[in-house]
Amino acid sequence: MTNSNQAWFDRALKVIPGGVDSPVRSFRSVGGTPYTVVRGKGAYVEDVEGTRYLDYVQSYGASLLGHAHPDVVEALRHAVGEGTTFGAPTPGEVLLGEVITSRVAGLEQLRLVSSGTEAVMSAVRLARGATGRDKIVKFDGCYHGHSDALLVAGGSGVAQLGLPGSAGVTAGAVGDTIVAPYNIVPTLDDSVAAVLVEPVAANMNLVAPLPGFLQGLRDECDRVGALLIFDEVITGFRLAYGGAEEFFSVTPDLWCFGKVIGGGLPVGAFGGSRQVLSSLAPLGPVYQAGTLSGNPLATAAGVKVLSTVTRDDYVALVSRVEQFATGLKEAIESAGLFAVTPVQGPLLGLYLSREETCAPTNFTESRVLCENGLYPAFFHAMLERGVALAPGAYEILFVSMAHTDDDFSQTIECAARAARIAANA
Ligand SMILES: *Cc1c(COP(=O)(O)O)cnc(C)c1O
Repeated sequence: MTNSNQAWFDRALKVIPGGVDSPVRSFRSVGGTPYTVVRGKGAYVEDVEGTRYLDYVQSYGASLLGHAHPDVVEALRHAVGEGTTFGAPTPGEVLLGEVITSRVAGLEQLRLVSSGTEAVMSAVRLARGATGRDKIVKFDGCYHGHSDALLVAGGSGVAQLGLPGSAGVTAGAVGDTIVAPYNIVPTLDDSVAAVLVEPVAANMNLVAPLPGFLQGLRDECDRVGALLIFDEVITGFRLAYGGAEEFFSVTPDLWCFGKVIGGGLPVGAFGGSRQVLSSLAPLGPVYQAGTLSGNPLATAAGVKVLSTVTRDDYVALVSRVEQFATGLKEAIESAGLFAVTPVQGPLLGLYLSREETCAPTNFTESRVLCENGLYPAFFHAMLERGVALAPGAYEILFVSMAHTDDDFSQTIECAARAARIAANA
């Protein structure tokens, strides 16, 4: 069959290394051949063979309203006819900047870039430039994109492939990066420019911040004059209407966004107070730029998504996800395995285990569960039943606003059967 997943993947393997443009999409850690998607609608995607899957990947969090939301499609149709990139300021950048800053207290200005990687990389450069210091602290198992300085002890695909970091990253590039265990407040000194953290760690499956952790980071940064950077590329406008600051009542100095704010198009943003952002070129000495930054299509989609979702939508989604998490856990445990399903806002983690176990609090604990060998069989059994989870145990389930209670029920039913298969595998 020429229009099969296998045929497309074989062709992909010829022209794209490993057949994928981002390693998390490969089936390396679960085995098998990826499905090649041709379209998505709401909570579902469809592959080249016409098979539909209930999709919990949702572009790893970039899709909040679900795929091809009619209002977003309409906004894009309009934008595309007006021209797609100019190299001059456009209203869309202002509108997206206004929406984002209006929802996050203390975030006065931001700059748009084209990916989360760029957002974090630029925020780190800005923090170093603004403080005149070199060191940055990151946490074991947090993923902050693939810029050299941050590609150590990363979660997501880096963890999935069992890599400590990456070849091609020099000792010099990571020489000023200090890695600390998540959920323990490190003691800093005045060589530290910034502490970079995922307010909810969502790239080592899901690890919630323990009470006091984020506030502890805030206090320790203040004590030595370091900047606190929230990498909200996943949590921003997903965890809550105002993101992690609203959810945890802790205010960082710099914010990084991506995923949701692009409405499914390539976008990132980093921002903070007007004072800190004044170090950025053309105002200050920290250089940062981008040909496609603030792209009109991306801003049109981002503005549409953010202005469509209401506070009530988040509240409703969170309570539905909490029920879903409970149902999922019960179903898996009825089949003879144990499950941990941590929830933070609408973010949902899923760990399988043969023994009763607590929710992990750091990467070491998360890794034990993610590497226990249960996930690949569970993943494939779910996929065969039409439920697409991410092809790696370190990813979370992304629930969109388009997922219905029926979708959740169906997933729970499948999970009971998939867990039985995984238990006996
Ligand atoms: C996805 C992600 C990034 C990188 O964003 P890209 O758009 O993939 O470059 C950075 N930080 C976190 C927390 C992420 O989840």
